[in-house]
Amino acid sequence: MRFYSTRGGASAKNASEAIVKGIAEDGGLFVPERFPDLGGSLEEMLDMDYADRAAFVLSKYLEEYDFDALSDACEAAYSLFGEDAAPVVKLDDGLYILELFHGPTLAFKDIALTLLPYLLREGCDHAGIEEDVLILTATSGDTGKAALEGFKDKKGVKIMVFYPEEGVAEMQRLQMCTTEGNNVSVVAVKGNFDDCQTAVKKIFTDEQFKKRLKEEGAVFSSANSMNFGRLAPQIAYYFSAYCDLVNAEEIAMGDRIDFAVPTGNFGDILAGWYAKRMGLPINRLICASNKNNVLTDFFETGVYDVNREFYKTMSPSMDILVSSNLERLIFELDGRNAAATAEKMRALAQTGKFTVDAAQRARLKEDFAAGFCGEEECAAVIGNFFEEYEYVLDPHTAVAVGVYDGCGGEDKPTVILSTASPYKFAQDVCRALTGRAETDAFAAAEKLEKLSAEPVPPQIAALKTRPVRFTQSAKTSELRDIVLSFAAKK
Ligand SMILES: *Cc1c(COP(=O)(O)O)cnc(C)c1O
Repeated sequence: MRFYSTRGGASAKNASEAIVKGIAEDGGLFVPERFPDLGGSLEEMLDMDYADRAAFVLSKYLEEYDFDALSDACEAAYSLFGEDAAPVVKLDDGLYILELFHGPTLAFKDIALTLLPYLLREGCDHAGIEEDVLILTATSGDTGKAALEGFKDKKGVKIMVFYPEEGVAEMQRLQMCTTEGNNVSVVAVKGNFDDCQTAVKKIFTDEQFKKRLKEEGAVFSSANSMNFGRLAPQIAYYFSAYCDLVNAEEIAMGDRIDFAVPTGNFGDILAGWYAKRMGLPINRLICASNKNNVLTDFFETGVYDVNREFYKTMSPSMDILVSSNLERLIFELDGRNAAATAEKMRALAQTGKFTVDAAQRARLKEDFAAGFCGEEECAAVIGNFFEEYEYVLDPHTAVAVGVYDGCGGEDKPTVILSTASPYKFAQDVCRALTGRAETDAFAAAEKLEKLSAEPVPPQIAALKTRPVRFTQSAKTSELRDIVLSFAAKK
């Protein structure tokens, strides 16, 4: 299957090339030439376990990958999650939580990033790439650690992660900066996530820089959700959740359901939209934003406008103004007219905004609902939810619950995607539950354990004594040189 660039530049001849390149040469994102129809295969998927469902969905795009090897890779990746990689928990009639945080780093990013090393290695083989791969990743907090865990000590790969210095939770920072392995590096950037992401995208599309890198015997790739290899594994859990609900007789095959998705870079929810295009009976995808509500305004007005204040919130992984993956949706809305999409992205880069027309806005309404949840409301949701269900939400998931509460009305069964363990954000969750601030992240985690009767995950407990290896902080203008010297390091 070919992959087109959303901006009309050179296409990739198959998924391997799209995954290895990460981003198209013209700065666009790779999109599959078509959406395989799995509507008729749902029955068949009911009896599969999570790894088999994932391999089945992925194989429709990764046509050149050997199916048995892909199945084995899914088996290996999802065995790291315990019994079920993506369990659906029933809270009430018609209300379910899809728990995506049972992986090594306790965030949903693990679903894709435990598999990406395999997808990339195979991809390099298929694409005939013999150089080492240098992975650059901008993170709003969770991608960084998930990518570091996935790629540490992997042969032929180096990985460098950039995070906003003031923009991540303490546990997230500790998770990243204590990572072991000789092929990893972590740098704090003076700026917000958008600054990190823009700087990394710039390095990616800099031809001169790529030449220099080639002389060092390396090529770039990305572990950000711009990479199709990140997106594809996420499609699978929408199918899997649906199958689980059918198996549990909560819904009948063919019933249409809603998904509420806490959204930042628009990767998670876009995977849901791809699932719908592939025939999964989805009614609405509820796009939930925090106080950085660019997307809410976009769905309401058709104007995407980043000329506004950037807020730091207790759901830092969603503190994003420029949602990269929206470009893939715009490309479809533009009828796959890449020139039209490229024009919008040019406008976004130059003026900070672009507009879709009334007909396009109407089409968005067929698939999406959108809303946002402010900080106080988010804290209240965590408190109320615990009171009602004895279930502790992390702040990102709470944003989705808050928006779901506010935009009901269609009375469809709804699955809330839960994207992180509350322990990653122990201080804010503790404050929401007790009304008292907790200055130490580990004390907060212990308090949370007492309150919730869920033990502190060992990955969190271990951070307390693990040495911090990375303390470098840099301006965005210095990243080029930092990347080059890391690439040259033997
Ligand atoms: C990354 C992340 C999100 C947002 O996902 P996108 O794919 O960027 O929209 C939400 N919650 C958590 C915990 C995350 O790590």
